[in-house]
Amino acid sequence: MKRIEVVQNILEANDSIAAQNQQLLNRNGVFAINIMAAPGAGKTSLILQTIAKLKDKLRIAVIEGDVASTLDSEKVRNEVADVVQINTRNMSESCTLIANMVGHALSRLPLGDIDLLLIENVGNLICPSEFALGEHKRVVISSLPEGDDKPAKYPVIFADADAVVINKLDFLPYVEFDIDSFQNALKGLNPKIEIFQVSCKTGAGIEDWCAWLLKELEANKHKAQTKK
Ligand code: MG
Repeated sequence: MKRIEVVQNILEANDSIAAQNQQLLNRNGVFAINIMAAPGAGKTSLILQTIAKLKDKLRIAVIEGDVASTLDSEKVRNEVADVVQINTRNMSESCTLIANMVGHALSRLPLGDIDLLLIENVGNLICPSEFALGEHKRVVISSLPEGDDKPAKYPVIFADADAVVINKLDFLPYVEFDIDSFQNALKGLNPKIEIFQVSCKTGAGIEDWCAWLLKELEANKHKAQTKK
C-alpha cells in the first residue's frame, strides 16, 4: 500500500504547484493551453499554424517539452520572441512535463507581455494525462495515420481533454479512419468535448480552431476579472 501513498503524494504536490502556476498566469492575464499528442501527430505544426493565424491579434509565447533536443524550439523561435525549451531527459519524469518544470519556464518568460501561452507537452498519450501544469485548457491532437482506435486504447487523456484536434485530414483518401466513429467514441468518453478537423499542412480547419481559442481566452479573461 505504501507505493500507492507515494504516487498520490507526487500527484498532490504536482497539483498544488499547478494551482500556483495558474494563479501566476491569471495575475498576468496569460491564457495557457496544454497540447498533448503522440509523437508526430502535429503538435509543433499546430502551434506554428496557430501563431501564423493569431500573431497579429495576440502576444504569444511557447514552452516546448521534449525528452531531448531543441529541434521544435528552433522551428518556433523564428515566429515568436519568447520560447523556452524543457528537455526532460534525466529528470524524475521524462515522459511528460510536470508543473514544477513549467513553473521554472514561467519564471523565464515576460508574463506581463504575453496573452497566449502554448505548451507543447512530451509526445505520448499516457503520462501527460496524469499531470496538471496550471493550464486553462487541455487539448489532444490525434492524427489520421495513427488510426481511429486511440480513444478506446488511451481513454484517460481524451476523457480529461477540453478539445481534440483531428489533424492530417489531407490523409483521408489514403488511410482507414472512420471520423464519425472516432467522434462518437470521444463524445462517449466526454460529452462536452470540442472537436476540430484540421490539416496543418493545407491550413484547412485552422480558422475554427483559432476562433475557439480566442473565444476561450476572452471567457477566461472575463472570469478572472469577475474574481478580482
Ligand atoms: Mg513537436
